[in-house]
Amino acid sequence: MLKDRFGRTVDYLRLSVTDRCDFRCIYCMAEEMAFLPRAEILSLEELQRVARVFVELGVRRIRLTGGEPLVRPGLARLAGWLSAIPGLDELNLTTNGARLPAQAADLKAAGLSRINISLDSLDAGRFRALTRTGNLDDVLAGIEAARAEAFSRIKLNTVVLRGRNDDELEDLLQFALARDLDISFIEEMPLGQMDTRDRGEAFMSSQSIRERLADTVQLVPAATSSAGPSRYWQVPGHQSRIGFISPHSENFCASCNRVRLTVEGRLLLCLGNEHSVDLKTVMRANPDDDAPLASAIVDAMAIKPERHHFSHEPEEQLVRFMNMTGG
Ligand code: SAM
Ligand code: SF4
Repeated sequence: MLKDRFGRTVDYLRLSVTDRCDFRCIYCMAEEMAFLPRAEILSLEELQRVARVFVELGVRRIRLTGGEPLVRPGLARLAGWLSAIPGLDELNLTTNGARLPAQAADLKAAGLSRINISLDSLDAGRFRALTRTGNLDDVLAGIEAARAEAFSRIKLNTVVLRGRNDDELEDLLQFALARDLDISFIEEMPLGQMDTRDRGEAFMSSQSIRERLADTVQLVPAATSSAGPSRYWQVPGHQSRIGFISPHSENFCASCNRVRLTVEGRLLLCLGNEHSVDLKTVMRANPDDDAPLASAIVDAMAIKPERHHFSHEPEEQLVRFMNMTGG
């Protein structure tokens, strides 16, 4: 088992398969982005290798993320390899959904269990403004494609930005309820330097989001909770679980069970800190021996920070963007 020095067990890996994306969401990326050259990123075989070693060390759930995972050629092939690793309980995916109409069936056949799809607005013009390049109809078709494949759970992720989509929270909730989808409302996190906007101005706490929703629906705490940072609520008479991810206002670090691997093979021990270990160099230096890689992962647990210290102060923002982090 992977244990850190605060007694937390790490059994969840978020595996970034690309830093690239077909969208440019305003809270995630700058308008002009430089992406990694191909030689710098892990091959599909290397991603499979490192995932297998994590599972051998006790990881039970893997989430494929990015960047946009569906732009990585061979994603379904990789998903098939990963879901076949003995000991892995769940293989999940976070996506912007736009390419799901073409890929949902292959991903289901490859053994993927759950899908999270990002959806910040139901208004096409506003959706385009928030994503800079995204097309709402593609994403709505992607959600339908995922529903048609009957993944074990589908969850919508909505980053809430005051003045940009906070007047749509009720509509987004009703959209999820009508389709038995889960939905999580996320506070924006200060990852990457934004020169075009002030994150603090758009901040909305989970508490105020919940209060806003409670004006129109009854919210009761859900009986089941997840191991993740979401706290879940339900509307009586509906299946959907409604989550609130509150990195600012309700610190969830004490129960953190996860680490992230960037597509360049950097193991990030915390979303909100720079502590990391370069696993790519270890892997490439020992192509036929997994022992050094396993040792590097075990040793990395010693530098997992106790907590993040997110703040809206510009000088305290991390330089790393979310697409590089594996959100
Ligand atoms: N491209 C995929 C997608 O959009 O779902 C997967 C990667 S994306 C980085 C993962 C999640 O992080 C998305 O739900 C996105 O909305 C969220 N995200 C990105 N930047 C964020 C930020 N600065 N604060 C909070 N959430 C963010
Ligand atoms: Fe792309 Fe996801 Fe980032 Fe949006 S949030 S730019 S879809 S990686």
